[in-house]
Amino acid sequence: MTVHQDDSAVLPGLEVVSAIGPTGRPQTEFPTPAPLREHGPARVIALCNQKGGVGKTTTTINLGASLAEYGRKVLVVDFDPQGALSAGLGVPTHDVATIYDLLLGTVKNPAEAIINSGHPNLDVIPANIDLSAAEVHLVNEVARETILARVLRKVSDHYDVILIDCQPSLGLLTVNALTAAHGVLIPLECEFFALRGVALLVETIDKVRDRLNPAIELDGILATMYDARTLHSREVLERVVETFGDTVLETVIGRTVKFPDASVAGAPITSFAPDHSAADAYRQLARELISRGAVA
Ligand code: ADP
Ligand code: MG
Repeated sequence: MTVHQDDSAVLPGLEVVSAIGPTGRPQTEFPTPAPLREHGPARVIALCNQKGGVGKTTTTINLGASLAEYGRKVLVVDFDPQGALSAGLGVPTHDVATIYDLLLGTVKNPAEAIINSGHPNLDVIPANIDLSAAEVHLVNEVARETILARVLRKVSDHYDVILIDCQPSLGLLTVNALTAAHGVLIPLECEFFALRGVALLVETIDKVRDRLNPAIELDGILATMYDARTLHSREVLERVVETFGDTVLETVIGRTVKFPDASVAGAPITSFAPDHSAADAYRQLARELISRGAVA
């Protein structure tokens, strides 16, 4: 069924194919992206929310895997001492060079810390608990906010996109991620208090824009763990859309136990359960971000 709605809500050149989506806008069919002829330099996107358990790591893994399926060369950076991103992709975190070594300069060449995830086009820089000491070590460094930016610049030409999985805090590491980033993606869980703290996050992004990284953009807010069967989930999403308008991405990630299952298996959902609707949701997110120009 084709819906004839106010076209202003739809990105130019894209067709509206079905009814109203969960964000209250007509759903768009984001086209399958054409392969790139040339790769790099990367656009860097920080996945950021100081609240834990909102889907940052899950989104980094599965957005990364989906973009890799579309032929984009993807580097995902584990920037959380918990190392959940590394574990979720099944890469080792001990007896390997990590992002901590690159920040401290004990390993100079980022290529030495990059591991292929076992999936084509998807590379990882791992992290482990050592990273929790980084803030203390870096606090007296000159230009301490720009250390990650300088590390990533060295490998940027080899990738189309670099995704940084931030830790749940707004400390120096997250400021480094925001300083290195061209864009920020904010995952928001469709739960009580989802919006609590977002104002502070937006304020932090604004400060980084003023002082360190004038070009940083808010690429979008991604609703995660949405359960269409509960009135509660629908109400939270409605509030989020009321507050942030078109910054809220049309793609919404549903709640399913397949995600924890896939993390235990150390694989993206696109490989663990490739035909599951949750895998398709992340592929749609990849297409939406490409359509919006957030990724090449
Ligand atoms: P964060 O990185 O923001 O702390 P995670 O991505 O690690 O959040 O997600 C927190 C927990 O919720 C993990 O156990 C993850 O497997 C699970 N999870 C993430 N997204 C979903 C989802 N859409 N549905 C169900 N569980 C999810
Ligand atoms: Mg995480």
